[in-house]
Amino acid sequence: MTKTFDQLGLSQPVRQALDLKGYTTPTPIQEQSIPHLLEGRDLLGIAQTGTGKTAAFMLPSIDNLRDADNQTPFKSCRMLVLAPTRELAGQIAESSREYGAMAGLKVQSIVGGTSVGKDRNKLHRGTDILVATPGRLLDLIDQKAFNLGSVEILVLDEADQMLDLGFIHALKRIVPMLPADRQTLLFSATMPTSIKDLSKNYLTNPVQVSVTPAASTAERIDQYLIMVQQDEKQSLLEMVLSGRYETPGKLERVLVFARTKHGCDRIVKKLAQANISANAIHGNKSQPQRQRALDDFKSARVKVLVATDVAARGIDIPGVSHVLNYELPNVPEQYVHRIGRTARAGKDGIAIAFCAEDERQYLKDINKTTDAEFERLPLPENFRAVVEGVGPTKPAPKQQRGRVQAKPKNGAPKRKHTSRAGRPNRGGQGGGQSGGQGGGGRSGGGRSGGGNRRRSGGGGGGRTSQD
Ligand code: AMP
Repeated sequence: MTKTFDQLGLSQPVRQALDLKGYTTPTPIQEQSIPHLLEGRDLLGIAQTGTGKTAAFMLPSIDNLRDADNQTPFKSCRMLVLAPTRELAGQIAESSREYGAMAGLKVQSIVGGTSVGKDRNKLHRGTDILVATPGRLLDLIDQKAFNLGSVEILVLDEADQMLDLGFIHALKRIVPMLPADRQTLLFSATMPTSIKDLSKNYLTNPVQVSVTPAASTAERIDQYLIMVQQDEKQSLLEMVLSGRYETPGKLERVLVFARTKHGCDRIVKKLAQANISANAIHGNKSQPQRQRALDDFKSARVKVLVATDVAARGIDIPGVSHVLNYELPNVPEQYVHRIGRTARAGKDGIAIAFCAEDERQYLKDINKTTDAEFERLPLPENFRAVVEGVGPTKPAPKQQRGRVQAKPKNGAPKRKHTSRAGRPNRGGQGGGQSGGQGGGGRSGGGRSGGGNRRRSGGGGGGRTSQD
């Protein structure tokens, strides 16, 4: 039986802010985490963006900060939230301001790619809550413009992504500067060995909470697959976006994923030549460019956004009708993150993957890891002619579609919310495995850690320093 926010023990100002946001029911991660966090427990949360985890850590923290009633510290903060990307940091800060609107707490965010001088001024008088990317935080600390001596609560958000982006050294420098007597919360979408190690080093007797948005999100997403040669993908994309190839669902806002930064730029340029307006978002873009691209997309001024993984991770954009995987990700988990950009806030969504011959292995990995069910779409009937520049420009007639693959692992029914077998209960009395939606689906589903996780190197989607 789902609890109400009132039953979770949150204060009146926080509940008022939730009323303003229109939230009526806690999400599973909120229901499972909030009571423990209000008690001051450390927490290890296996959850990704889209599960409501920002509110899960922010709401009780706001109450804890209010209860402790300490002064806003000079050149420091009381709660530090570290996030891997600029966009995610911005988003968390925005949500925090809304959740804390009635609590009178000051929220600031600092991210790379913006003026350090402005950040220095902004933080001179200190803040209650600081949301930061690790690199920029260290810049300010190194300049003696900020210190971590007053931190009461530390949140490491999207910790797996932080490690993937090479932030481990930054974390190793930051964490020892924090008071030992603090509350620490770590959220990660996956649970590779590196994250387990991190949690052992940074958390004390944590409550473990796990939700499986991957499975439940995927259930609301219709997933399609088109087999197409790599050098024909651009033509196919143009046909889809211009409506010359009718794909399922009404194209309202389309997020296109490509593997590299240059790939994104090339796609956008060619779309422009075909009179299709699109923006690119990736690590080579300046922060204002990235923000503008996001704003254009959010306001639907530009309905197509072409992104690399790193730029899109964690972005919460309501109303994405379609996710198009122009290239399949070489890390299967990334596929789940990508398609999770649609079907947000309880809506249905559509994901279409363009798969070239040499991406078949990625497709297999995705099937194996996520139990994805793809319905195969044929190429448009006139496709060859269009690719060669002699084809008609009318939409193709609707064609017969066949369901392919979708083989559940071992012929077993789709795994949903199984318990995380074999995971020790580390939480002490009642703490350990906080019930509900057990995390077996993804985190316990056979990927035993960092070892078999292929990183997205090579292209621009891989490691960029501060995004
Ligand atoms: P997050 O996982 O924190 O990025 O949250 C995903 C989305 O869910 C955001 O747009 C939140 O505003 C929204 N959200 C969070 N908690 C709730 C809730 N209890 N009810 C409805 N929407 C929520």
